[in-house]
Amino acid sequence: MDLSVFSSMESEVRSYVRAFPTVFDTARGSTITDEAGRDYIDFFCGAGAVNYGHNHPAIKKDVLEYLASDGIQHALDMATSAKRTFLETFSEVILAPRGYAYKVQFTGPTGANVVEAAFKLARLATGRTGVIAFTHGYHGLSMGALAATANSWFRDAAGAHLGDVVFHPYDGYYGDDIDTVKMLEKLIEDPSSGLDLPAAVIVETVQGEGGVNVASAEWLRALRELCTKHGIVLIADEIQIGVGRSGDFFGFEESGIVPDMVTLSKSISGYGFPLSLLLINPELDVWKPAMHTGTFRGNTVALVSATSALNNFWRDPEFVAGIARRSELVRARIDSIAARYPEHFATRGRGLLQGLVGISDNELAGRISRKSFELGVIVEVSGAHDEVLKLMPALLGDEETLVRGLDVIESAVDAVLAA
Ligand code: PMP
Repeated sequence: MDLSVFSSMESEVRSYVRAFPTVFDTARGSTITDEAGRDYIDFFCGAGAVNYGHNHPAIKKDVLEYLASDGIQHALDMATSAKRTFLETFSEVILAPRGYAYKVQFTGPTGANVVEAAFKLARLATGRTGVIAFTHGYHGLSMGALAATANSWFRDAAGAHLGDVVFHPYDGYYGDDIDTVKMLEKLIEDPSSGLDLPAAVIVETVQGEGGVNVASAEWLRALRELCTKHGIVLIADEIQIGVGRSGDFFGFEESGIVPDMVTLSKSISGYGFPLSLLLINPELDVWKPAMHTGTFRGNTVALVSATSALNNFWRDPEFVAGIARRSELVRARIDSIAARYPEHFATRGRGLLQGLVGISDNELAGRISRKSFELGVIVEVSGAHDEVLKLMPALLGDEETLVRGLDVIESAVDAVLAA
């Protein structure tokens, strides 16, 4: 496969092409095909950007119809029929049934863009500057978001001071017996702890990039209570765990908490088109007109595909039941791999964000990822030391492909450990 133009012309910053060195060409459902005609089963889903698989025919049909009708492509944040339909559908299918009263802000289209908006608004609404983020958290790489991203590989590239964020241990960071929300409470309530009252706390209910770390429902409820007690804006970063990955639409639903702000990106458009939303408790919506603006916000084609995904999947209880069944299949398989090699692996995860954690050797997950790719499966690593094989298959599709993908990963584990 000729990759020379990418290595000669594209910046050294390129990343995933190094882990998956081929030229991808077409994709359908969970299968991606490269230029040589080789098929790969996708257990990565664009880091959560194509949760419904690639080029889903129902969404494609709506997108093609919109394009064929000369539907408006770009309108800044002017009113469009596409946006009206999206807002009405999002309210009817997602917000209203859950009793959420959020207002919706269309931010720039990346995850980092929506995190920036959340921080600015929380700071504006509270008049305070500090943000508490958690160990192993990932919130994007623009300067404001990067300040809340824990990994030193990314922080070291900032080239400027990253300020106004304090990191606190995530649930389980010091083991199961240490309640880190209690620790935070003590720091906040002690006038001589040195910790200023923050504007916001930002949390992922499951840390995708940070190594598939799962916050317990009790911990999240205690965090919600602490934020409420002190008027701290609780931001749930749902960019990776949201839009079905957890088994519910939102990762925080299981805990029953209602965050003050929610960041959504990646799979909200349903088709891999860039689209991000900030959900805002109306009391905190203190923006003045155009205080936070930009050219690309709420792209109409992405709104059409987002509406299509809500209509085609989220109105159907069978779709949600299917995520649960698929999650059980994945979890049972990685648990059985870990049971076969207890000295090498632990497992953790929720829904269809599952981690096979290499405990004997930080290099193990990377070797398995490379072997899986050789054998025809795309699966990523995450964690502070890239020690976690992160399994993120599509939320729907035929079970046979899912099982085949798991078989390949298991064969890769066996091959790597036998080597
Ligand atoms: N937050 C979370 C939880 C993420 O997983 C990511 C991306 N991996 C981001 C923010 C940043 O999104 P983007 O790469 O689109 O800026």
